[in-house]
Amino acid sequence: MRIGIPKEVAAGECRVAATPDTVKKLRKLGFDVFVEQGAGVAATFPDPAYEAAGCHIVSDAKSLWQQVDIVLKVRPPQFHPELDIHEADLLRPEQTLASFIGPAQNTALMNHLASREATVLAMDTVPRISRAQKMDALSSMANIAGYRAIIEAANHFGRCFTGQITAAGKLPPAKVLVIGAGVAGLSAIGTARGLGAIVRAFDTRPVVKEQVASMGAEFLELHLEEDGSGEGGYSKEMSQAFIAAEMALFTHQAKDVDIIVTTALIPGKKAPLLITRDMVEAMKPGSVIVDLAAEQGGNCELTHPGEVYTHQGITIVGLTDLPSRMAAQASQLYGNNLYHLLNDLGGSQDFSVDMSDEVIRGTTVIHAGEITWPPPKPSTP
Ligand code: NAD
Repeated sequence: MRIGIPKEVAAGECRVAATPDTVKKLRKLGFDVFVEQGAGVAATFPDPAYEAAGCHIVSDAKSLWQQVDIVLKVRPPQFHPELDIHEADLLRPEQTLASFIGPAQNTALMNHLASREATVLAMDTVPRISRAQKMDALSSMANIAGYRAIIEAANHFGRCFTGQITAAGKLPPAKVLVIGAGVAGLSAIGTARGLGAIVRAFDTRPVVKEQVASMGAEFLELHLEEDGSGEGGYSKEMSQAFIAAEMALFTHQAKDVDIIVTTALIPGKKAPLLITRDMVEAMKPGSVIVDLAAEQGGNCELTHPGEVYTHQGITIVGLTDLPSRMAAQASQLYGNNLYHLLNDLGGSQDFSVDMSDEVIRGTTVIHAGEITWPPPKPSTP
């Protein structure tokens, strides 16, 4: 079977769905791989590197989509300005597309894709169970976003993270507060600790306390009965009383810390608003907030999604492209996620979208033109 890797169309997107390394693995599964000219350049993978890995370079997107059985992408299909056509219209019946899709948010796209009578696998709906961890693109991208959040914070902060005692005087360590200790939050905690900062973290799920402590950070607690652990280990919406208590804690912390990284999300809901204008204004000049929930509405009242915004000397980073800013490694991890998915689909020889398999069922959002998202809830034993 033939796999196609188009160049990403979204402005500023530097990732690519396969690297020369992951292409070699796909070829070992028996696939023939076709890559659009220049697809990996922004991620530092030039065409000759793909050729050396055994790929065929195709000069334009249209002929690439036409000649392959499976298309691997990063961003959901969108209008292709150079071709003057929506990428969804390049999809044919019998073809399979694997990409981030966002089926809950992108209803019009889902209907458009379904009209093409093809099969669509959404990398953002891979069930988050142990067996599927190797394909969990949400986690692999969140891990990179958490790391990059600290790099962005350090850049805008412009001071040392680690404390220093020098002949010229003492420099205090930076204090970092991480709100939400899921995959991205834990990655941010590890990175900030690695740079020598004092790190505190808060999450509505007390179960993460040990993980936070094991990384050398302090877990802030409210001592309320309410537990934010929802179905399948995910977070759930908290009561207004809990949110109010949490925000009182952040009001206090805002005056003390230099950097706040917010990552609080509830699956399928708008991000909770946790940092108000007043809290921002209470921070010391030069402080930085990085809002990793910017794309879902933001955890901070003053976040401008996609932008770096300054308010009274406080920098609020609302960038929504953090994994793309580390495109080589993000592409490598995402490419590995896709490789594992294609391996589970049987490779080239035995390729089949087996809807009786829990992981494949959860990932398949459109099956031969039929919308199959959301998947049925697993029956409790
Ligand atoms: P996420 O991105 O949906 O949310 C980030 C964090 O925000 C979560 O830890 C959540 O508890 C927290 N949060 C929500 N509301 C908050 C609030 N008001 N205040 C403070 N924090 C708040 O979550 P995620 O990082 O994608 O994953 C969360 C959890 O899911 C993991 O820690 C794990 O338990 C589970 N998970 C399992 C697997 C697997 O087994 N394959 C993979 C990934 C995640």
